[in-house]
Amino acid sequence: MKKFTHFYIDGKWIAPAGSEVIEVINPFSQEPCGTVPAGTAEDVDKAVLAARKAFDVWSTAAPSERAAVIAQVAATLNNRKEELGQLISSEQGMPITWAIGIQAGLPAGVMSSFAELAAQTRPEEEIGNARIVREPVGVCGFITPWNYPLHQVVGKVAPALAAGCTMVLKPSSEAPLNAFVLAEILADAGLPPGIFNLVSGAGSVVGEAICRHPQVDLISFTGSTRAGRRIGELAAQSVKRLTLELGGKSANIILNDADFKRAVSHGVKDICLNSGQTCSALSRMLVPADRQQEAITIARESAARIAMGNPANPENFMGPLVSAAQRDKVRGYIRKGIEEGAFLVCGGADAPEGLDRGFFVAPTIFADVSPRMTIAQEEIFGPVLCILPYKDEEDAVRIANDSMYGLSGAVWSRDPERAQRVARRLRTGQVTINGGGFNLRAPFGGYKQSGHGRELGPFGLEEFLETKALLL
Ligand code: NAD
Repeated sequence: MKKFTHFYIDGKWIAPAGSEVIEVINPFSQEPCGTVPAGTAEDVDKAVLAARKAFDVWSTAAPSERAAVIAQVAATLNNRKEELGQLISSEQGMPITWAIGIQAGLPAGVMSSFAELAAQTRPEEEIGNARIVREPVGVCGFITPWNYPLHQVVGKVAPALAAGCTMVLKPSSEAPLNAFVLAEILADAGLPPGIFNLVSGAGSVVGEAICRHPQVDLISFTGSTRAGRRIGELAAQSVKRLTLELGGKSANIILNDADFKRAVSHGVKDICLNSGQTCSALSRMLVPADRQQEAITIARESAARIAMGNPANPENFMGPLVSAAQRDKVRGYIRKGIEEGAFLVCGGADAPEGLDRGFFVAPTIFADVSPRMTIAQEEIFGPVLCILPYKDEEDAVRIANDSMYGLSGAVWSRDPERAQRVARRLRTGQVTINGGGFNLRAPFGGYKQSGHGRELGPFGLEEFLETKALLL
């Protein structure tokens, strides 16, 4: 049981203004595994003022000084990978082997990549008599979700630190514990007071207070499109800069010349990773209509091989969903898919056999899904794969782009040029080709209602910089 009772503000652990507490539930045991304080607008105000005060110090610090702190934090994250993986697995439910690698290992790598970027001096461009200089945006407000909680926090904190910004973070209420450990790590690394501030609490209270605060210059939010719209409205009142990383309904186009077995089984594993709670999950698998049966057979076999159960078992690939609410939402979509006439290949809305504890949903695959069905349009955020048959390449591209989302996608073909040609036609921020691996320096973000702005690498850093012209 991890109990955090204070917020991290201005370099100190400070008692909250109110007395409410958020209980964090382990999604496997369904028992409490920690508590954090529920903040108020008063706590946010203190945190923002501390960040404002610290901005002069950090924005003018030498790149080498910023880089040294970030590198120190990256090293500690890396050294404490196991412990952080355990912690996130307990609050969020991802099985331990994967939690250590992805939930804890990835943020350590991202932090380290920004230590390198922070150390580089930014070249100044000349345009006629203008010298163009880049400066940190100012005080940033960060609001993050629970699915890759530390990665999403680090994806904002690391570039902000590298750019010379100061910040207030509000982590999710479902998986906030890791953010408190990060605060300890930042403090131990010698980050001067006020640069990083942490206030946990409800989105409607703490999140909205951050978005409304006149002294906040930039909001970076990751979460649902629904909350993103609200945050955009609030941020617009004082014309804040805004980065939104929202939902997705990514299409996985398997072309007729693809390595079918590899492509289909990769797609099934992808939707089961983190129990489908991945914004870029390839939730729509597009297959040639005359090969749908073949895809169904491979998909069914792949789903049967997914090891699901206790997240503490290092052999398990899939754990429970994060909460009862999330499990019920996903089950609702499964029922909707059956009602709307999709063919249920495997899984379903009932509790998986032998797992009477924990918020589990079995890997669920639908075939014969038509593009207009609810399950083909809405983000389910669970281990539910929709197989959609298409007529030809043109039809596949049309179906893939028939979505309000545009976060990610995938194309499979034995002809790499053909795959790239199709990938370039997808209206999404990333496209994986023939299973290409995740790149923690490549820009990540969405087209359309998946948001705007990019995270990670040099493009992620750009979000935290203003542009000034000195006219000579
Ligand atoms: P959510 O939008 O409910 O919550 C995300 C965060 O926003 C939480 O910290 C929450 O407390 C806060 N929040 C909620 N309402 C708010 C409001 N009115 N004002 C200010 N803050 C508010 O989302 P969730 O359920 O936590 O996460 C799942 C969603 O996040 C999915 O839709 C998923 O696709 C999306 N997501 C997107 C990305 C991406 O990079 N594009 C990454 C991860 C998750």
